[in-house]
Amino acid sequence: MGKRHIWVLGIGCLIFIFTTVANAQGDGQKKNRWYYERRGDIVWEVPKAGKKIALTFDDGPHPVYTRRILKTLKRHHVKATFFVVGKNVIREPQLTRRIRKEGHELANHTYSHPGVRRLSLQKLKEEIEKTQAVVFKNTGTKTHLMRSPGGYYNDKIIKVAKKTKHQMILWSWDQDTQDYRKRSVIRIVRQVISGASNGDIVLFHDSEPRAAVALNYIIPILKKKGYRFVSVSELLPFSKHKK
Ligand SMILES: [Zn+2]
Repeated sequence: MGKRHIWVLGIGCLIFIFTTVANAQGDGQKKNRWYYERRGDIVWEVPKAGKKIALTFDDGPHPVYTRRILKTLKRHHVKATFFVVGKNVIREPQLTRRIRKEGHELANHTYSHPGVRRLSLQKLKEEIEKTQAVVFKNTGTKTHLMRSPGGYYNDKIIKVAKKTKHQMILWSWDQDTQDYRKRSVIRIVRQVISGASNGDIVLFHDSEPRAAVALNYIIPILKKKGYRFVSVSELLPFSKHKK
């Protein structure tokens, strides 16, 4: 073996070691939607569900807007899913009970809505368990679905979801209404209607005033197009917790 060959071999080995180490460290970045979706770790939407759509509301219960949303959903005979924040459940126990009583699904959106990327596994686990406990205390039902604040995901978050027996749920990429950005109701309506497809999961926030108004337009139009509105659990083909 000549000197040149040894050099090439040496550099080749270095590149191999370097990329292996880099891959191991950059775990989170390498694992994208397709990785987690294929494994069933995270659900963004369920296209095989047929003409069904799940409306979801994050960050509540909110003393004013959740009530408006509930009223709108009732008016249109539609069931939805509320990803509640534990400390808001403590503030609004009656409202939490009302969500459940009116036939909607309660899901877990952590206790204090922390930044989850830097949170330890143990702390995140506590956030989920504490919320599950307060929801159970107030409604007698356990949460089976969770959504991380900001929709962040990585191996750590998936691990916590599994440890606490929750299915991680995000939302259809074209169905983030971004209602928190103070967008006009018309824009939200247009986005949800034009993007609607089988098994979509639509993201609203019940800390915002726009959802209730937008739903008054969205629901009748999509019903006319043949869509049915269901809870997220009803959308899941493998759910053990169908209501
Ligand atoms: Zn949130």
